Amino acid sequence: MKKELFLIFGDPVSHSKSPIMHNNTFQEFGVSACYSRYHLSNGSELKKKILSLGISGCNITVPHKEEAFLACDWLDNFAKSVGVVNTIVVKDEKLYGYNTDALGFLKAVYGFKGKRVIFLGAGGTAQSTAQILKQNGYDVTIANRSEKRLDYFRKSGFKTFLYKDLKEFNYDLVVNMTSAGLYDDSLPAPKSTLISLLKDANGVIDVIYRRTPFLKMAQDLGIQTKDGSDMLIYQGAIAFEYFTNHKYGFDEVEPIMRKALTL
Ligand code: NDP
Repeated sequence: MKKELFLIFGDPVSHSKSPIMHNNTFQEFGVSACYSRYHLSNGSELKKKILSLGISGCNITVPHKEEAFLACDWLDNFAKSVGVVNTIVVKDEKLYGYNTDALGFLKAVYGFKGKRVIFLGAGGTAQSTAQILKQNGYDVTIANRSEKRLDYFRKSGFKTFLYKDLKEFNYDLVVNMTSAGLYDDSLPAPKSTLISLLKDANGVIDVIYRRTPFLKMAQDLGIQTKDGSDMLIYQGAIAFEYFTNHKYGFDEVEPIMRKALTL
């Protein structure tokens, strides 16, 4: 039987734990498929690469999720509304795009108290997750270090700020949606801004799946925290459902992926 190939495209991509999660799940279910990483610098080449490599599907990580949206021939309604794709299924040389980050993030937020949320960061992941929170009754404010990416959020009706212009700091949940801390020990925003935000916060989520300096700051203050592992597992389990045409359900995939992360 032909072995199907799935990839994760990104730049950087070496940090991704998606291969271990998907490969263990394929193995557990006896699916003849494997999942690997592909370092792609130029996102505009995504479609050409997907088709020339003959893969069955892929995930897309930083910074190509908007390019992935543009590459698709068909989009599910949520992906269409947010302009960001992180999961693609290939059928008959056509690319079908989905966004599983957002639902994964929403599931990860359950368990935190309060609906006033501030995102630090305004990239592709913030775009989809802010929309799903809004659709579920959260009041989301977006802050970023630079202006350009705030445009999308302003036009979509979110309150937006540059860090230097933040004057109010009363949010229940503070979320690091940047890539600060992914490879280095940098903080997502100026330290003084973070200190002010953490004073009133009940919870902190960092979408990066390691103990970043920001997460450590919040833990030292005794605030409830969560790193990006739950979001990673949930978005991966939903993507797996698409990759296997829903042959396997979320509830059976999720524990296998969770266990894979401990290996
Ligand atoms: P993008 O490249 O689209 O956006 C990056 C954002 O981070 C921008 O707002 C950018 O600001 C900001 N940023 C980057 N570096 C710094 C820095 N040193 N200091 C302050 N701000 C910075 O990335 P994505 O939105 O796709 O991903 C964001 C994060 O989410 C990544 O860390 C990624 O690993 C993580 N992620 C985790 C997932 C999970 O399952 N746990 C799933 C998806 C993503 P500017 O606009 O000024 O450049």
